[in-house]
Amino acid sequence: MAEERLQKILARAGVASRRKAEELIRQGRIQVDGKTVTELGRKFDPARVWITFDGRPVAEEKPVYILLNKPRGYVTTLSDPQGRPIVTDLLHGVSQRLFPVGRLDLDTEGALLLTNDGQLGNYILHPRFEVNKTYEATVRGVPGLEKLRRLEQGLLIDGRKTWPARARILARKQDRTTIEIIIHEGRKHQVRKMFQAIGHPVLHLRRTAYGRLKLGSLAVGKYRYLSTKDLKKIF
Ligand code: URA
Repeated sequence: MAEERLQKILARAGVASRRKAEELIRQGRIQVDGKTVTELGRKFDPARVWITFDGRPVAEEKPVYILLNKPRGYVTTLSDPQGRPIVTDLLHGVSQRLFPVGRLDLDTEGALLLTNDGQLGNYILHPRFEVNKTYEATVRGVPGLEKLRRLEQGLLIDGRKTWPARARILARKQDRTTIEIIIHEGRKHQVRKMFQAIGHPVLHLRRTAYGRLKLGSLAVGKYRYLSTKDLKKIF
């Protein structure tokens, strides 16, 4: 299907008249693929994007929640101009349009939640709800306790202090250390920047949990559907 103006898509879906839909867009109440759109006149292909109104799907669909173990080399956007593989390529037989909750870098692997429930996505990403994200970072060298304390107390990245984190050493080799770090913010490249700031660049990064929802034994590239009980473990 061709691209159409967002207000026209909303009007056709029965959300509101075209005029009222323009107002909703300006008020920041419409999200496309999980991101708020406030500019009028932007065009989308309704068959290729996921539109929500105050976080609720515009077209009624059963909410679906999937936990994927993202491999390295996959992007977490829904399309890639450079033609790299995208995480949703790994899903088979899923007819709903799902979007990833938060980003993982191309080279990061591990837990990635995919859903069509915009409201849940917003909760998980908002620092106010303090959903902990646990990462296992293998870093160059062996940071001393003093440096781990700096991670925990918060340090400056991009001119802004990070919120307190928790960090503990899981394994240590001569030239590298694996550290578990728990944060509830989701700034771009945050974990890599935090370790860079203490002089121990990340060699390998894996997210292992959202809240108490753990990746467990899920193999890389595989996914599973989440139950309500699983979802409760996130908060
Ligand atoms: N922090 C990072 O630096 N990268 C990720 O992919 C996730 C968190």
